[in-house]
Amino acid sequence: MATLSRLASIPVSEIKSLGPKRAALLAKAGIDTVADLLHHVPRTYLDRSDKPPLADVPVGTEVTIIAEVKRIASRRPKPKLVMTEALISDETASLKIVWFNQSFREKTLPPGTQAAFSGAVESFRGKLQMSNPDVEVLDGEGETLVTGRIVPIYPQVGEVKTGKFLRAMHNALKRARPISDPIPDPILAANGLMTRDQAFYAIHFPETLEESGPARQRLVYDEFLRLELSLALRKRRQIEEATGFAHTPTGELAERFIERLPYQLTGAQRRVLGEIESDLREGHPMHRLLQGEVGSGKTVVAVATLLNGVEGGWQGAIMAPTEVLADQHFSSVTGLLAQAGLSPEPFVSASELGMASLFTADGPTVHIGILTGSTASANYRPDISRKTLLDDVASGQIDILVGTHALIQEGVRFHNLGLAVVDEQHRFGVAQRVLLKEKSQSIDPDLLIMTATPIPRTLSMTLYGDLDVSIIDEMPPGRAPVQTRVLSRQEENLAWKAIQEEVAAGRQAFVVCPLVEDSPKIEAASATAEQIRLAAIMPDLRVGLIHGQLRPADKEAVMSEFRGGAIDVLVSTTVIEVGIDVPNATVMVIEDADRFGISQLHQLRGRVGRGPSQGFCLLIADPTTAESEERLAAVAATTDGFRLAQDDLRIRGQGTVFGARQSGMADLKLADVIRDFELLVAARRDAFALVDRDPELKEHPELAEEVRAMLGESVEWLFKS
Ligand code: ADP
Ligand code: MG
Repeated sequence: MATLSRLASIPVSEIKSLGPKRAALLAKAGIDTVADLLHHVPRTYLDRSDKPPLADVPVGTEVTIIAEVKRIASRRPKPKLVMTEALISDETASLKIVWFNQSFREKTLPPGTQAAFSGAVESFRGKLQMSNPDVEVLDGEGETLVTGRIVPIYPQVGEVKTGKFLRAMHNALKRARPISDPIPDPILAANGLMTRDQAFYAIHFPETLEESGPARQRLVYDEFLRLELSLALRKRRQIEEATGFAHTPTGELAERFIERLPYQLTGAQRRVLGEIESDLREGHPMHRLLQGEVGSGKTVVAVATLLNGVEGGWQGAIMAPTEVLADQHFSSVTGLLAQAGLSPEPFVSASELGMASLFTADGPTVHIGILTGSTASANYRPDISRKTLLDDVASGQIDILVGTHALIQEGVRFHNLGLAVVDEQHRFGVAQRVLLKEKSQSIDPDLLIMTATPIPRTLSMTLYGDLDVSIIDEMPPGRAPVQTRVLSRQEENLAWKAIQEEVAAGRQAFVVCPLVEDSPKIEAASATAEQIRLAAIMPDLRVGLIHGQLRPADKEAVMSEFRGGAIDVLVSTTVIEVGIDVPNATVMVIEDADRFGISQLHQLRGRVGRGPSQGFCLLIADPTTAESEERLAAVAATTDGFRLAQDDLRIRGQGTVFGARQSGMADLKLADVIRDFELLVAARRDAFALVDRDPELKEHPELAEEVRAMLGESVEWLFKS
């Protein structure tokens, strides 16, 4: 019995009929092993189970005839025409075949050859014949592959065509079968799945067309199960290896903070905060993903979370993907703390501050600092030097430190980091988690990852399967959805008019310039040109410029001018994409919007409509493909990020949405997270239950081996002890 992991160690070149040259072609497409080959499944099937004897061949319909070549010869009735004629026969009758300009047939079909001829039989001058049929030469057992049965049609890979695959598959299966089944019978039965051996045979060589469906289901389930097992194991490992600790928040700081906000938390914010707080009380570290639309109020939740740690004497960190965002977090968190009366008096000597003075007679205060490549500051001492700031972090004077990822990568030492908030869209990798742990000596800090990228449940189950997920699915009251319109380039004046009207009403606007892939320089140049052009079109307005080539300090200067209202219209490249918060901005114009993806457009649009006034988004585009037209229409049709994320997946497909090698998605060869969602849910449930009962898969060694063999290096660490 061959196991799948064994098959994953046999190179395809060992398959008779493939050989090294074709194996090299297949390797380019990621088909290296017999297991890979068996996962290259037919894209469709031809029903050739109807194999009539020659005597009964119906005229006019497509058929496949198995017969022997009796005679074959070519002639040249006209200078440019070669006719190759053959006579074929089976036990019942004979038939004439004609090919035009295919004289090679003479060589490939010498008399005596058994072959399958597929085409329509026609009546020509009272006699039956077949013109230009497809031919599959049969040698011995091959006959059973293309005739009298359902014939698989494979996606071509390089020069390797379906006929080659057919034979290779046949040989591979002959060598591999019987393939053992590592999944316990009760699980198969509960899910109504066929055995793996049956499934591999039936997906390639189904007896009936109906059989290929359940075969596919079984293989899809297996892919999901491997992925989910790796996630369940990872989660298990995290819990086991973690040196966690239970926070014991009294609620004094967090509650005080929430009470003093100028608004009520939404129901969703309160619910999510409850989920987080119960994680904090657990002995093992939190790994929670906080999802919420731009403007849904994640920052407030993050601050309340950090305060829960701070009041127990732990330090907290906020990590942002860019310096601009770190600056912004610092100023908004500082503002929120001041609002809640939690700010220390500035300029008090640092030695008098810190944990001990947290609960003084004047009430508790929270010390927050920022450290980035270009900034060092703190709310108790704005002019603090980098060195003093680092000292204060190390001694525990600082309660919350804001910065970029550099916080965990460079020489920053915390006194006792207990909680980290990571603000980013991308996955916070295992490597970073390890670094984070190192930052806090021996314990694992709790981790809250915030993302404004709506991830449909389908995907959080795969991509973020080892994280717990909280979703803020409610916007603060009084926010009307941003109104979105697509304008052609010819209609661009409507956009500039809208900006002028809004500015006249005291508000501000963003203009985002075209995306220039792989060239921040060109992108910056075109934004600069656009600033000049727009300043001429709207001479009464103050038009500013920000792009990725500016130094961080210059970027921050422009941002603060815009925030302060000294700039009416901010022309920018996509640097404003993430997190920028200027509630007075109500218009977002995106130029050449067809060059952006759905989620990017949605993120950009989220920059407006954050205040009480109606927001507008104008997409200037002359889409040239059906896909880009569909994307723009989707964005214009809804502001629901989850719906858009689903649309995006549908339009582009999972392979494109997630880069080729992203966490497990690349291992989904047959499975489609949308189409096969029910199987994903089943596999996830089964995988987590299995790992619950058998945390190291000791009783399921073949499954463990398979997860390792199929998911490769990315899961190797799960098995190290
Ligand atoms: P996010 O980080 O999710 O994009 P923020 O936390 O920055 O959102 O909040 C966006 C804006 O909404 C901020 O100005 C914030 O003060 C405000 N806000 C947050 N929660 C509420 C609420 N419950 N009611 C009213 N306004 C809120
Ligand atoms: Mg935010």
